[in-house]
Amino acid sequence: MKAWEENIRRVVPYVPGEQPQGEGLIKLNTNENPYPPAPGVLKALKNMDGQLLRKYPDPAASELVEALAKFYGLKNHQVFVGVGSDDVLAMAFLTFFHSEKPILFPDITYSFYPVWADLFGIPYETPALNQDFQIKTEDYYGENGGVIFPNPNAPTGIYLPMKGVEDILAHNQDVVVIVDEAYIDFGGTSARTLLNRYENLLVVGTFSKSRSMAGVRIGYAFGSPALIKAMENVKYSYNSYTMNLPSIRLGVEALKDKDYFYRTIEKIVDTREKAKVRFRELGFQCLDSSANFLFITHRERKAEEILQALRSRKIYVRHFNTPRLSNYLRVTIGTDDEMEAVYRNIL
Ligand code: PMP
Repeated sequence: MKAWEENIRRVVPYVPGEQPQGEGLIKLNTNENPYPPAPGVLKALKNMDGQLLRKYPDPAASELVEALAKFYGLKNHQVFVGVGSDDVLAMAFLTFFHSEKPILFPDITYSFYPVWADLFGIPYETPALNQDFQIKTEDYYGENGGVIFPNPNAPTGIYLPMKGVEDILAHNQDVVVIVDEAYIDFGGTSARTLLNRYENLLVVGTFSKSRSMAGVRIGYAFGSPALIKAMENVKYSYNSYTMNLPSIRLGVEALKDKDYFYRTIEKIVDTREKAKVRFRELGFQCLDSSANFLFITHRERKAEEILQALRSRKIYVRHFNTPRLSNYLRVTIGTDDEMEAVYRNIL
C-alpha cells in the first residue's frame, strides 16, 4: 500500500436502488411517485429564466423555509431544508449524535443509518423488531446517545402509532430523537403534533415521495429553534449553498397546490389498499403498510426467483439480501395499470 493510501477514509457506502434506463419499464423499486409533480411545478420549470443561474442562491433558502412553515403551521425558525432528506438526515447525524454512548435504531430499518453512523464515527446499537416487524418501544428506554427511526418504518411500511412515538420521547428527554417521516403522508399522524411539547424532537420529511419530486432533491426538518439553529451552524461549517435555486423555486410552487397534493396521495393509498387484497389472493403474505410500498413474501415461491422473473419482464421491484428480509420483496405502489401488470406477471 502506498503511503498516501493509508490516509484514505475507507467506508462501506449505502447502495441505492437501481435506476434502470430505457423504454417500457415498470419501475417500482425506489418508492417514487407514479404521478407527475403538481402542474404549477411543471409550469414554473418551463418558464424558468436562465439568468437566475448566474448568481448564488439564498444560502438560507428562505422562500422555501417560509413556504414550508406556512403549509405546516410552524414558525420559520422551526424549519431546516436540505438536498433531499438524505442530506438533512446526514446533517442531523453530524449535529446531534455526538456522544460516546451508542445511538439506537431498529435492526430492520433504512439502511443508510448505519452508513452515516460509520462515516461519522458514531457508535450504535440496533434493537430487534418483534416477530411482526414492530418497534418495541421499551428497547429505547435505556441510556443512549440519541434515537432515530422512520415512521412508517422502511422497508416494512409498518406505522408506530403516536402513543408509541410519545413513549419513546418521554423516555429520551436527554438526547435528540429523530423521526424520519419520509412516508408519513401515505398514512398515520405526523410527530409534528408533538413539537411544542418536546424541544429535543426532530421530524424529517421529503418532497421525493408524496410530492413526486425525487429528482429535485428537497428534504426538510422541523424542530425547536435550538435544534434548527444547531443544524444551521453545522451546515454553514460544511457547505453554505446546499439548495440550488431552481429547487427552491420548484419546492415553493409544489407547496401552493394543496388540492393536488391530497388528491395524489388519495389515489396511491387507494391503489395500495386494493394491492394488499390482490397480493393476498395470489398467496402472498403482505405486511399492513402505511407507506407507498408493500413488503410481501410468498408461501411457496422464493423472493429472489420472483425478482428475476419480474425483471426479465422489465418490472423492477426491490430485494434486500439480509437475514430476516431475504424472502421478501418491496413493491412501490405504481398506477393501477402498473399494478395490474405486476399481478399478471408476478407468479
Ligand atoms: N428516509 C427513508 C426512510 C427513505 O426510505 C428514504 C428514501 N430512500 C429517505 C429517507 C431519503 O429520501 P430523499 O433523500 O429522496 O428525501
